[in-house]
Amino acid sequence: MPQGPAPADSLEGATGRGARYSLAVPSRCSAFAPKIFGLGLGLVLLASLGCSTNPATGKPQLAMIGEQQEIAMGREADVSVAQQYGIYDDPELQAYIQDLGMQLARVSERPDLPWKFAVVDDSIVNAFALPGGFVYVSRGILAHVASEAELMGVLGHEVGHVTARHSVEQMSRAQLAGLGLGVASVASRDVRQWGGLAGAGLQVAFLKFGRDDERQSDSLGLRYVVRAGYDPTEMPKIFHTLDRVSQAAGSGRIPTWQSTHPDPGARSQTIARAVSQLAPDEQRGTLNREIYLAHLEGMTFGANPREGFTVGSTFYHPDLAFRLDFPSGWQIVNQRSQVGALSPEKDAIVVLSLVQGSADQAAAEFRNVGGIVMGSSMGRNMQRFETVSDNPNDQVLTGVVRFVEHRDVTLRLLAYTLDSRWRNAEQPLVDSVDSFGSLSDPRYLDVQPKRLELVELPRPMSLSDFAEAYPSSVDRTTLAIINGVSAEDVLEKGQVMKRIVGGDLPDR
Ligand SMILES: [Zn+2]
Repeated sequence: MPQGPAPADSLEGATGRGARYSLAVPSRCSAFAPKIFGLGLGLVLLASLGCSTNPATGKPQLAMIGEQQEIAMGREADVSVAQQYGIYDDPELQAYIQDLGMQLARVSERPDLPWKFAVVDDSIVNAFALPGGFVYVSRGILAHVASEAELMGVLGHEVGHVTARHSVEQMSRAQLAGLGLGVASVASRDVRQWGGLAGAGLQVAFLKFGRDDERQSDSLGLRYVVRAGYDPTEMPKIFHTLDRVSQAAGSGRIPTWQSTHPDPGARSQTIARAVSQLAPDEQRGTLNREIYLAHLEGMTFGANPREGFTVGSTFYHPDLAFRLDFPSGWQIVNQRSQVGALSPEKDAIVVLSLVQGSADQAAAEFRNVGGIVMGSSMGRNMQRFETVSDNPNDQVLTGVVRFVEHRDVTLRLLAYTLDSRWRNAEQPLVDSVDSFGSLSDPRYLDVQPKRLELVELPRPMSLSDFAEAYPSSVDRTTLAIINGVSAEDVLEKGQVMKRIVGGDLPDR
């Protein structure tokens, strides 16, 4: 958790970062979704006028959101993406991805959108697009891709979602149906929202597209890849890789693209069939394997422990030099602007968040949130609070809040549970909030992330030869997947292989 609010991942999806829920919602994001869906009523009346012809698909489309509005929505969500995921700090890599993306955008049916292609600082295998031409790939997916041509397939697919205006169509449908995608709860200014909801500002990035939309994006992506002169036969490979990643992860870290892009086998076959029907000269094209890989040299791999890691139930944050003990046995979720832990019964929560302003300012802001009544001070800047609500169905929440100025940031420690559970939960919650402290032990302060390195093989060898000659700090399965090879393959002399180095953490 370094600088910026909380994520919930997506490769257009909903899950991710190992977490199935999000611990807090930054208030500056939550205004976004209601704004989109708040367009609602007036526009419903215009529904019959909301059909237009889509330039990419040539088909009539339900679109109650105009292009300028679409771009404005994308721009706003783009800010949330940067805050919640972070943009990976490598200007050269960013420029490279922007250049690749623009090659596709230029040959698309909507070349004049304010296209932006960026790498988000996320280890999950992920890519997603916002309306208006904002496309993101995670460093996690980059590490799993083997060539420019393969990456172009991923980018082309996302460009397809934008040109076909899939999210616009979907939001228009949601307006019509009056569903609002759960916005009623998002709009609630209740303290509960800190405990349960994903960043509302990114709802638009988490829309799940239907199977038809996915197929359409595949075929549009293929079109752009071919027009840009890239080898389209590389495009199906990402599906195979995604399959392997999720198999290796078990039920744990399923790549988000997988969760929102069902049936990868059938889709990769469909794409392969479409490729085989292209004119022969279109079935060839630029591959650029070595050029692509060279851009990955030194890239962070996996979760970055500088942004926080856990040993036992203690959380360490090297960049911000603090530590915090969570109640033991709780599920800890580390996100960009906060880290939190949830009780096994999911009825109590401790959340530490970065907040704006001084401790006094942040405390005043907290007191002024509607629905909160402050209670007695408990010393050390810690104070009791409980929630009040006009709605008799809302249960009262009781907790403690503490504000700490640490180095040059202000942190809010918040721990709460249902009022009826407070008696049992009070001690562990208060102890946890109380345990916040500075971190000075260099064993924790100096940890570094894993990095991707390239090796040009001096001779033919097997994967296990490679792993022995050039040790990696990931397991053999991961090594095979990121290199797109299997244990039986003979690796050729001169082949460029990825290895992962460093990143050891203290074990206690
Ligand atoms: Zn998609």
